[in-house]
Amino acid sequence: MDELPAYSGAEPECPKCKHRHASTNWRCEVRAVGFQGGVDVPEHLERVCSRCGYCWKEAVHNAG
Ligand SMILES: [Zn+2]
Repeated sequence: MDELPAYSGAEPECPKCKHRHASTNWRCEVRAVGFQGGVDVPEHLERVCSRCGYCWKEAVHNAG
């Protein structure tokens, strides 16, 4: 399983536009079974940039 990046705090830097604010939404785990190339995604946080709308995944808990 791929490791998700650790939660980056209240003001993460958007990888696309470098804006330093994003909303945070919890997402439950996703099991993709029976699809070619399907992947399991553990529960994670979906960060959405408040300026450009880019979204990315982060781990629910801080690493360490
Ligand atoms: Zn952005």
